[in-house]
Amino acid sequence: MRRARMALTRIEPGALALARLRCPFCGPSLALRMNRSDHGVRCLRCAASSIHLAMGAVLLEELPDLTDRDAYELSARGPLVAFLRRKVRSLQVSEFLPEVPFGHEKDSIRSEDVQQLTFADETFDLITHTEVLEHVPDDRSALAELHRVLRAGGVLVFSVPLHEGEVTIERARLRDGRIEHLLPAVLHGDPLRGGAGILAFRDYGGDIVERVRAAGFVRVELRAPRMAPSWLKLRKVIIAHKDAQ
Ligand SMILES: [Zn+2]
Repeated sequence: MRRARMALTRIEPGALALARLRCPFCGPSLALRMNRSDHGVRCLRCAASSIHLAMGAVLLEELPDLTDRDAYELSARGPLVAFLRRKVRSLQVSEFLPEVPFGHEKDSIRSEDVQQLTFADETFDLITHTEVLEHVPDDRSALAELHRVLRAGGVLVFSVPLHEGEVTIERARLRDGRIEHLLPAVLHGDPLRGGAGILAFRDYGGDIVERVRAAGFVRVELRAPRMAPSWLKLRKVIIAHKDAQ
């Protein structure tokens, strides 16, 4: 299934490259670059995308031992979920399923809205999400909720499409439950599931760091994953901490 999806990824002949890879999820492997986009690289063994490889590299660098972590990942499948399931003490996953009451499950997948999580305060030691926040209408509420459900000393690691030298631009907002477009609609393809794409409410700039800090996080940084080969050029990942008190 994953391999089939991989075959559908756009191939730029001039960008094709193959090299040895130490995959954070599956170990010694090969990296295949199919194009120069943020999603253009795959691990040939576990099919992890560039985004997931970046997340895995930063996670392992920051937290080499995950065995004492109760973790929460805001998606229910993929190589990052499989990796966390093997490494952490406990793993909670969820998806945004608007048709399912939040906190309830459908087909064993819990439905959650990150703007109003149903978890108790201080439930997790580690929270991860990839390519979620730009699709959330009120990302400040989302960040405040993620801070609330993290324990003191907990860590948040996530990725968003990032325009580092720029400031964040709001593209759309919710008004009385309706989407109001401030700029032409941009839909991001969902590299994990395909489909029509999801509306991006904003384009994040480097000032995302201030936005995360404003939600109460400390030691917030954009971390460049360190991984060979050099042409991987993985996107920076945001890492933030909840004060240990
Ligand atoms: Zn792999």
